[in-house]
Amino acid sequence: MKASEIRRKYLEFFAEKGHKIEPSASLVPVDDPSLLWINSGVATLKKYFDGRVKPENPRIVNSQKAIRTNDIENVGYTARHHTFFEMLGNFSVGDYFKEEAIEWAWEFLTDPKWMGLDPEKLSVTIHPEDEEAYRLWKEKIGLPDERIIRLEENFWDIGEGPSGPNTEIFYDRGAHLCDPSDPECYPGGENERYLEIWNLVFSQYNHNPDGTYTPLPKKNIDTGMGLERMASVMQDVPTNYDTDLFQPIIQATCEKAGVAYGEKEETDVALKVIADHVRTIVFAVGDGALPSNEGRGYVLRRLLRRAVRYGRKLGIKRPFLYELTPIVAEIMKDYYPEPVQKQDFIQRVIRSEEEKFLETLTEGLHILEKVLDKAKTEGKQEISGKEAFKLYDTYGFPFDLTEEIAREQGVSVDRQGFEEEMKKQRERARSAREDADSMQVQGGVLSELQVDTEFVGYEKTECQTTVSVLIHEEERVRELTEGQKGFLILKETPFYAESGGQVADRGVILSGQAELTVLDVQKGPRGEHVHNIQVEKGTIREGETVKVAIHRDLRQDTVKNHTATHLLHQALKDVLGEHVNQAGSLVAPDRLRFDFTHIGAMSEEEIKEVERRVNEQIWANNKVEVMIKPLDEAKAMGAMALFGEKYGSIVRVVKIDDYSLELCGGTHVKFTGEIGLFKITGESGIGSGTRRIEAVTGRHAYAFVEEQIGWLNQAARQLKSKAQDVPERIEQLQNRQKELERENESLTAKLNQAQVAKLLNQVQEVSGVPVLATQVQAGGMEPLRSLMDDLRKHLEEGVIVLGAASNGKVSIVASVSPKYVKEGLHAGKLVKEVAVQCGGGGGGRPDMAQAGGKKPEQLPAALAGVSEWIRRQMSC
Ligand code: ATP
Ligand code: MG
Repeated sequence: MKASEIRRKYLEFFAEKGHKIEPSASLVPVDDPSLLWINSGVATLKKYFDGRVKPENPRIVNSQKAIRTNDIENVGYTARHHTFFEMLGNFSVGDYFKEEAIEWAWEFLTDPKWMGLDPEKLSVTIHPEDEEAYRLWKEKIGLPDERIIRLEENFWDIGEGPSGPNTEIFYDRGAHLCDPSDPECYPGGENERYLEIWNLVFSQYNHNPDGTYTPLPKKNIDTGMGLERMASVMQDVPTNYDTDLFQPIIQATCEKAGVAYGEKEETDVALKVIADHVRTIVFAVGDGALPSNEGRGYVLRRLLRRAVRYGRKLGIKRPFLYELTPIVAEIMKDYYPEPVQKQDFIQRVIRSEEEKFLETLTEGLHILEKVLDKAKTEGKQEISGKEAFKLYDTYGFPFDLTEEIAREQGVSVDRQGFEEEMKKQRERARSAREDADSMQVQGGVLSELQVDTEFVGYEKTECQTTVSVLIHEEERVRELTEGQKGFLILKETPFYAESGGQVADRGVILSGQAELTVLDVQKGPRGEHVHNIQVEKGTIREGETVKVAIHRDLRQDTVKNHTATHLLHQALKDVLGEHVNQAGSLVAPDRLRFDFTHIGAMSEEEIKEVERRVNEQIWANNKVEVMIKPLDEAKAMGAMALFGEKYGSIVRVVKIDDYSLELCGGTHVKFTGEIGLFKITGESGIGSGTRRIEAVTGRHAYAFVEEQIGWLNQAARQLKSKAQDVPERIEQLQNRQKELERENESLTAKLNQAQVAKLLNQVQEVSGVPVLATQVQAGGMEPLRSLMDDLRKHLEEGVIVLGAASNGKVSIVASVSPKYVKEGLHAGKLVKEVAVQCGGGGGGRPDMAQAGGKKPEQLPAALAGVSEWIRRQMSC
């Protein structure tokens, strides 16, 4: 039975039992900062279990993609562990409980209409105190006592929250797989005989903050069955890797490496690791994760690098993982369309990361070799943490790789020292951040305050309100006087606090006699707006009534950029593809910056096309609507949300006609026409798989265009042409220049010929050596050398020294033919002799040398001295 059929049957079985089929959610958790990756079926359904959202149907079934890196050491070694796997699960949110869960699990596994497994091969584990589960397995199902094993660890608990006993179902893969005398040879022990295929969790208690457990009013069921494991059972193969989910990947890798599967343990481990990791990588990238140096991206990067290294163990030294993408996509496409849809993007991400890592490897390996050699010659058995850190920090060489290679040579690495260096670096980074953000320093006082601000800035640009808090140098104060800087909180404020990339408003606060400037506004611990102010005049007191007003022009400019950012986001998706996701943004009054995921530079046409689409939206003068909605509803409408961003249960949705729909707390224009004009000023790469677009709108776009046209007009004036003729004129000038250069070359050649004939007449014999030492006309070293070349063709044996003076500088070249080099004459020494007299220096090879000087007036005398020098050399 193919894996896809098992998946389909599982969903069908539970759908027949009244479950609603939920699609597999993204591996990148949404709204859940506690998780790096979705690691089980229940992880995506948390909202139902903790009561935040009521499910339409309390019975749910799904097949969920999961990533677990805690099992990574087992991958390739055990038959059953992966970093990426699918979990089939049925769930009851306060609906059915133990009895149905157990009966249905049994029915699905043993009924010939479904899996039809031999009941004799199944055994279960339960929690020792779960008599209810025992009774059900024993009496309802009829399992004998020896196949109901009580294990203390069968209690599912993750700290505060729902918890409860569980029961796990094991399949006996054959007595030959473990020695009955081995104490681990039982279902649930560390062995390869009893395979855990399904875990049923009965969450019936609440784990209270004080550590006690109380029964839950509504009990839940949460189960998980590993699809890969079930496939290995149904296909009757020894490991998950022998199923149809993995074999095509393994076979393709074998072909690339020229190895066979099933012959050598070491090769098989590498093949399994690669097959496992490439699935993880393909799905992670498909779900929007990208390799980087932190968090999720770092996990991904490490998995990819690990796979590349196992590839090297098989002898594959070029990028190859990306080529496995279509195979993974093909195997999974039945249920997961993403890898097929995004195949091109996924392949580019993987390939570029592979290429980069291979480069790093080559460079890092080289340096590591040196470090290892040094350690060995010094008789050391260990590489210091500092050295390992340097390799990591400067060359991007991962620590575990350093360790692995060192270990192969019998050298260890000081991990603790490395970690200390890492810590130091983190601290350095942190203090740099803190310096930069004085608002954070105020966190202490702010966290003790209980004030809230009402933000009225969506509708108003000014208002009358009261000062609720004043802070000076991290302490709450009653007043701030002229010249002082501090922080201020208002009851209501029209000032936007920096967030979602949009910068804070600036403006003024006025009381009867005081005047304040608002320099910055940030959000405090509870979202209150904290104004960073300077008292320009008078004294401001707590409780005072004030009139506050934001700088309206700046706000208007900012608002244009913000709406334009939304249009840009959509246009990028339309032009480049759905893989484009916002990775960061800056919305300032004078410009906007938008970072997004995409591999490779955008072409000129793509940039133009994006710009054109944004402007078309502006010209259409579409309405921008803002709606307040429950998060789920907003998402159901298809609103774009940012990966990893935390949203409250009620969100603001910004809708621009039918073109763009985004969750956003920022300020926007009412009609797109207000933006006026949108111009992209730059497109660049800012690290792996992330591009940056910089752009301007409104009057700043106008100023940009003005400036560009200004330059063009100036160029036109200088060329004495019309603007539209500038390119043609430049081409003409370039052609003319090339012509002149060619002409110049041929003239120089002719001139040289004439000069050569004349110069050859000046050759003298000095101690039997033909010598030519003379001053010529030449505009520098280049023509001088070409003249020398011509002369040497005619004077095959002898010494030539040429000097030229131009622009107050002296150039000298000297040549000695092979015969006289043998007799001891040295062009380098000779040229130096001449150059020194001209106030310079130089040297070179025995047969050819050049030098310079600063005293042209000395050149004739210096050249005249050449004969004397040769005479002396030849006589000794
Ligand atoms: P094991 O003890 O074998 O590591 P587990 O107790 O960690 O499994 P659960 O957290 O109960 O597993 O997950 C439910 C089911 O998901 C398991 O019964 C198994 O079929 C599957 N599963 C769990 N971890 C992995 C993994 N790393 N690779 C493949 N399948 C897994
Ligand atoms: Mg486990």
